[in-house]
Amino acid sequence: MNDFRKEPKEVRSAEIAAVTAVLDSGWYVLGKQVEEFEADWSRICRVTHTVGVANGLDAIEIGLRSLDIGPGDEVITTPMTAVATVLAIVRAGAQPVLADIDPCTALLDPASVARCITQKTKAILLVHLYGQVRQMDAWVELCHGRGIALLEDCAQAHLAEWKGRRAGTFGAFGAYSFYPTKNLGAIGDAGALVCSDDTLASCARMIRNYGQSTRYHHPVFGMNSRLDELQAAILMVRLSKLESWTARRREIATAYREGISNPSVAMLALPEEENSHVHHLIVLVCNARDRLAAELRAAGIQTLVHYPIPAHRQPPFTDVLRDPLGLRNAEDHAARCLSIPCHPQLADLEIREVIEAVNRFV
Ligand SMILES: *Cc1c(COP(=O)(O)O)cnc(C)c1O
Repeated sequence: MNDFRKEPKEVRSAEIAAVTAVLDSGWYVLGKQVEEFEADWSRICRVTHTVGVANGLDAIEIGLRSLDIGPGDEVITTPMTAVATVLAIVRAGAQPVLADIDPCTALLDPASVARCITQKTKAILLVHLYGQVRQMDAWVELCHGRGIALLEDCAQAHLAEWKGRRAGTFGAFGAYSFYPTKNLGAIGDAGALVCSDDTLASCARMIRNYGQSTRYHHPVFGMNSRLDELQAAILMVRLSKLESWTARRREIATAYREGISNPSVAMLALPEEENSHVHHLIVLVCNARDRLAAELRAAGIQTLVHYPIPAHRQPPFTDVLRDPLGLRNAEDHAARCLSIPCHPQLADLEIREVIEAVNRFV
């Protein structure tokens, strides 16, 4: 699914130079590299602030806490996500409320979200699952004038754009993860919150660093979620490749869409616009998913399932609040989805092998 060792040679040498520069600087946490990366990421997302943090989960938690969303508040999100999305809400002290997905996209279904709204709803946390951004006008409209913040989990959506605006810029904040497997990945954990609100950004900056304003002054209740210089330096090197890597992901997605033809295998809905999907994952839907995975494995093709168990079926969340009509689509999707290889280093020959193996499946 990923082979980090296939990173291009010139990228590797630039990374080694960047690591050496950090060692030579003698400064390892929250320094010049972090500031430069934050400025780069803000420019790319077209926001005024990026706050580098330790990981994607923390970016969501810190964003919620900066908005003062916590005990007594409800945050609606999807069960079809990395469990970190739901954990972040709980960690902020708020109640997650899970709404169902649209089976054609695997993204939150607006009708289900509407059924989940109560007096206590403070935010809707969208997850741009698999790298797709959709229907943002409808989400903005749904939140508008109701005192509900629109939040975006962009951990899978680096560079995704909808009507000329980047993922993470439609509501109060966007949360990014730079975990190694993401479209932009560090060599360890890293994350960031993006926003264009000065107060929110300065609050997030304090929370990530023990709630500190100036040295040893702690006006707010904080945590330790600082970003390392080393990770920021690596991220800047890889950032210079992100456009071309994303273009390669689009080529791979197009090749799969044109090549895969099998009555028992479906693909998710087409992106609304070319740039609205960055193909973090390419997901097939098949009733005989486990058998398809086994046959692909026998042909030497690795697959993964994102995600086999929706959040409400995980032991810590069995009592979580949810759509009164249930979460059937999320459960069906979890039982039938299969992610096939898609990463920038994937060769044309490998893509053909995947297509042929999928098409052979009966
Ligand atoms: C990876 C991921 C996260 C969590 O990011 P970490 O950096 O691993 O904490 C959150 N949400 C989604 C959708 C993810 O894919």
